[in-house]
Amino acid sequence: MHHLRDQDLKKEFVSHAPGYWANSGVTDEEWSNHTWQLKNRITSLSGLEEHLNLSEEERNGVILSGSKLAMAITPHFFNLIDRDDPDCPIRRQIIPRVEETLVSDYEMADPCGEDSHMPVPGLVHRYPDRVLFLVTDRCAAYCRYCTRSRVVSGAGEQELDTDFEAAFQYLEEHTEVRDVLLSGGDPLLFSDAKLEKILSRLHKIEHIEFIRIGSRVPIFLPQRITPQLCEMLAKYHPFFMSVHVNHPRELTTEVKEGLERLANHGIPLGNQSVFLRGVNDDLDTMKTLVHKLLMSRVRPYYLYQLDLIQGSSHLQAPVSKGIEIIEGLRGHTTGYAIPQFVIDAPGGGGKVPINPDYVLQKNDERTVIRNFEGKTFEYPEPAVRPDPVLDY
Ligand SMILES: *Cc1c(COP(=O)(O)O)cnc(C)c1O
Repeated sequence: MHHLRDQDLKKEFVSHAPGYWANSGVTDEEWSNHTWQLKNRITSLSGLEEHLNLSEEERNGVILSGSKLAMAITPHFFNLIDRDDPDCPIRRQIIPRVEETLVSDYEMADPCGEDSHMPVPGLVHRYPDRVLFLVTDRCAAYCRYCTRSRVVSGAGEQELDTDFEAAFQYLEEHTEVRDVLLSGGDPLLFSDAKLEKILSRLHKIEHIEFIRIGSRVPIFLPQRITPQLCEMLAKYHPFFMSVHVNHPRELTTEVKEGLERLANHGIPLGNQSVFLRGVNDDLDTMKTLVHKLLMSRVRPYYLYQLDLIQGSSHLQAPVSKGIEIIEGLRGHTTGYAIPQFVIDAPGGGGKVPINPDYVLQKNDERTVIRNFEGKTFEYPEPAVRPDPVLDY
């Protein structure tokens, strides 16, 4: 019944194209064109129902999404949905549900307190030496748990009102900023020329040492990762990219090719996963994911506890489960494969690392630790060690 679930843990890279579009007459050339992919996104209830039987919760969710966070799904990503699996981990990320309209006291429209850390519209300056630059409010597809759903997609009441000139001026004046992270929305939805205008302007600022982009385009729209784009990005080294993969099925052959192309242009790649109930809240899925990421030349960077975004209760998994998964990875697999689990502190405290406890006891004399197998060890502080003696 659940064909794809059986494949998910096999660490194989498969293409799902043309999938649902098999009988639509689309040519290979059209399929691999990112403009075609964007034009043919699923954005309406009728478009969705041509391919999938929806539950009542999904149907109502789609209808209500029009006034909150719009629905949009690229054909490439839509093909990862298993129509026979009502709990499909891809489906849960991308198809609206009526639960998105449920709001608890703890949930917020701006869970990371970004709006109150903007010296200039669109520029979030929370940490001493780096900024988050929100350059667009549009994405190739919309994640239902988006932490910026208050401003993203154009459907909600609030608008992202980025003032580019004021932002560049702020960055020129603030010599303590050495790192600029472009995000949004998704910066890779801009044309090469428009994106290059921003990158070249930032690159000219002497104290900016490091530029990076956060993007889910390599996953939602791998056709956009063209040789021309990569060549343009490589002009702005040291340039890094953070992508966003949550589930091993998202790493298809097309996605892997795009990631390899970026890596071949000298762009170091990190992955930021969001910890989601029913998507990646189990050790086997996460282990497969991080292994497939390394095979795609991507280093797992962060695993985010889901922000307290309004309407996200159906996707929330407990912090204790996240810690358990990190514990299940550390020591048991490659160190490069292990992301840092973080909570972005509610209200605007920034990212805080959350780790399993390996330190059992610590005082001025010694640190008592346990390893991944549960064995206990002691490390004496230099001050309590006996003086070394000559040994010859
Ligand atoms: C995540 C984030 C950054 C970048 O943080 P790193 O830990 O350096 O990746 C910068 N600014 C804001 C506001 C952020 O949320």
